[in-house]
Amino acid sequence: MAKKDIDWGNLGFGYVKTDKRYVSNFKDGKWDEGKLSSDDMITMSECACVLQYAQTCFEGLKAYTTKDGKIVCFRPDLNAKRMADSCERMKMPVFPVERFVEAIKQTVKANAQWVPPFGSGATLYLRPFMFGSDAIIGVKPANEFQFRIFATPVGPYFKGGIKPLTLRVSDLDRAAPHGTGHIKAGLNYAMSLYNIVDAHEKGYDENIYLDSGSRTFIEETGGANIIFITKDNKVVTPKSNTILPSITRRSLMVVAKEYLGLEVEEREIRLDEIGEFAECGLCGTAAVISPVGKIVDHSKEICFPAGMESMGPVTKKLYDTLTGIQMGEIPAPEGWIEVIE
Ligand SMILES: *Cc1c(COP(=O)(O)O)cnc(C)c1O
Repeated sequence: MAKKDIDWGNLGFGYVKTDKRYVSNFKDGKWDEGKLSSDDMITMSECACVLQYAQTCFEGLKAYTTKDGKIVCFRPDLNAKRMADSCERMKMPVFPVERFVEAIKQTVKANAQWVPPFGSGATLYLRPFMFGSDAIIGVKPANEFQFRIFATPVGPYFKGGIKPLTLRVSDLDRAAPHGTGHIKAGLNYAMSLYNIVDAHEKGYDENIYLDSGSRTFIEETGGANIIFITKDNKVVTPKSNTILPSITRRSLMVVAKEYLGLEVEEREIRLDEIGEFAECGLCGTAAVISPVGKIVDHSKEICFPAGMESMGPVTKKLYDTLTGIQMGEIPAPEGWIEVIE
C-alpha cells in the first residue's frame, strides 16, 4: 500500500489526524462490539465524569516497520494489562486484554499508510485511552465509558543527534504513598504540568521525583522510568510501588540480563548515592532510552562521566540491543513482537 506523502524524518511529536480510530462504548454494564471510525471528534455531556472528576487513564505504544517490511507493535499485551490495572484503580470497566490487542491491530491496519517506513526513525504512535462519559455531579464513578485508540505519526526522537538531558531534583512531589503513581492516569500528568513548565523555564529538561513519604529515594521523572549503571556495569533501577511500571524499563532489564549478560537489580536508590553511578538514562516508549548527562540537586551538580555529548557505553548497548529487537534486526524473546501485517 502506498504510504502517505510525509517527510518522515522531519516529523515532530505532535498530533496529526489519521484516517481511522477505534471506538468502543460501555453502557448498561457492557462493552459494545467496537468499531473503526473516521470521526475524530467526541461529543458528550458538559457534566461528563471525565470533565468534572478526571476519571480517565491512557496508554502509549508504537507501530513501526521492521527491516523485513512487516508492520509490528512491541508487547501490546503489556499495555493491555497495565490499562486493566489502571481501570481497576480508577473504578472503570476493564477493556479485555485480548480485545485491546485486537483493537490495536485493527487501528494500525486501518492506518497502514501512516506507518512510517523502516529506517526513517519515525513511528506510528498509538494512544489507547478510556474516560467516564456520562453526566456525574455527585462524586462517584461514571456509568458509561468510552475506550478509544487513535494513531498519530511521530518523528525520530533523537533528531539532530543524541543530546544527554539535564534533570533537576524536584521540590514538588509526583505520587503519594498508597496513591496513584503506579497507574497511567491523566491526573498524574495534570498535576505535573506546573512543575515541568517551571523546570523548562529554568533550563532543565525534566524533573526527577523523590519518594514523597521520606524524600530520600529516587523514583522517576514525570513520564519516564530511570535506570542507573554502576561503575562495574550493573544495571540498577528504583524499586517503589509509586512508580509507573514502564514496559521499556522492564524490557531493558531482560535485555541487560539475557542478551548482554549484565547483572540487574531493582532496589531502593538513595538520592545521596547517585553520584556514585557511571551512567543514567530515562526509559519510555518515546525514546527507548534518553541518556542523562547531569542531575542538579539544588546547589549540587552530579555529572555523569559520559558527559553532555554522548550516551554512556552500557546505555548505548542497551539502547542498540532493544531497538535492534524492536526493528527485527536481533531475534526477539517469545511474544515480544506482535506482527500486524
Ligand atoms: C508511560 C510512562 C512511563 C513509560 O512507560 P513505557 O511503558 O515504557 O512507555 C514511565 N513513567 C510514567 C509516569 C509514565 O506515565
